[in-house]
Amino acid sequence: MSIISNAKEIADLVKKLGDIELYRKIIELEGEIIELTHEKRDVEEEIIALKTVINKTQEMNWKKPFYYTEGDDTPFCAPCWETKKIQVHLKFAGTLMDAWKCPNCNVGFNEES
Ligand SMILES: [Zn+2]
Repeated sequence: MSIISNAKEIADLVKKLGDIELYRKIIELEGEIIELTHEKRDVEEEIIALKTVINKTQEMNWKKPFYYTEGDDTPFCAPCWETKKIQVHLKFAGTLMDAWKCPNCNVGFNEES
């Protein structure tokens, strides 16, 4: 049984007692428990997101002018990674000036960048 359902059960029991002031306090407490539960969930989601960024940071290898991950020959966009911590594979454009292009930020790169 969760803490929220426990609080609701206690509120129901107190309601049956007919003590309005106690019931009001229990309802207030129940609201605070729900709020804390939501905050806890948000913090847990933030921790997961931060762990994901940490894991990706450990994966990314800088080989000028691109980032790569082990076992993946397609380069990642350095500006997208360095400014937003998102991994965006570059698309081969095939022209001399911009051999690789980022589909996210549209920056073009070549091996000399
Ligand atoms: Zn980019």
